Amino acid sequence: MECKLCKSKKIKSIYSGLIRNGGLGKYTENAVDMWQCENCGVIWHEPVIEDTKTYYESKEYRDSLEGSTEQEMFYKLHDKETLDKFEYTGTEIFRHKIVSDIGCGAGAFLDFLKGVADTIVAIEPSEAYRSVMAEKGFKTYAYAEDAKADWGDKIEVITSFDVIEHVDDPQIFMKDVFDLLAEGGKAIIGTPTDAPVMRSLLGEIYEKKLLFSTQHMWILSEDSLRRLAKNAGFQKIEVKYFQRYDFGNLLGWLKEKEPRSDIRETFTTGSIDAVWKSECNRNGWSDYIVLYVSK
Ligand SMILES: [Zn+2]
Repeated sequence: MECKLCKSKKIKSIYSGLIRNGGLGKYTENAVDMWQCENCGVIWHEPVIEDTKTYYESKEYRDSLEGSTEQEMFYKLHDKETLDKFEYTGTEIFRHKIVSDIGCGAGAFLDFLKGVADTIVAIEPSEAYRSVMAEKGFKTYAYAEDAKADWGDKIEVITSFDVIEHVDDPQIFMKDVFDLLAEGGKAIIGTPTDAPVMRSLLGEIYEKKLLFSTQHMWILSEDSLRRLAKNAGFQKIEVKYFQRYDFGNLLGWLKEKEPRSDIRETFTTGSIDAVWKSECNRNGWSDYIVLYVSK
């Protein structure tokens, strides 16, 4: 076996057991093997979902993840993520631009960009969400590849959050981003890391209950993201780490060994939390990583 991204033969088995299948508390019926490349650091499993394309177009995917495909429910779940996304992107790069979000769901983030961007290209496999976004006046496509005929070399800013870990081939994804971007255009791509602090403190408990999931085909390291970007043709490549979960979340996990057991006490102060997050970000221990590339 070789690494699917960098082709190195130095592969190690890091886990074999049940993994999350959909929302919290749902697991696979059979054990799944997780692998890591010792060269580029990427973690992956063999496909558990047979036809990913049909799966992500279906209601079944969103239902299993979130219990709903209703658009109002989508906003309720995802509007709160917008502030985090603006932390990754800043607000100043979108005005008067042709902007695309790949894997945008019902367009919760794009709704906030609509007032400043000139044109919005909404890329989302779920058919139910595409029709909602077409009504908003967004140009909609199921996949980045489908948008190329109309928007190849034209899009000025691309964002994509929590998507690249789901795709069959992250290298093709990155090449699609490159092909869509105009000369001088920027892309900002965010994905969860392997949360190294949680893995080190909780090991298989954290891996089984949260980290490893059938729907996340990949956990990309900084090195693997840089390689993908370079191979796609990007020359200006940067990454930044962002710790999303707070200190109370870490304490809750340590106490209960369960997700969503966050501890909210007077001693989990904002200052402790700020130090915790900034140390994670500075040292690359964070649970989220964002890639910044320009063409
Ligand atoms: Zn590799």
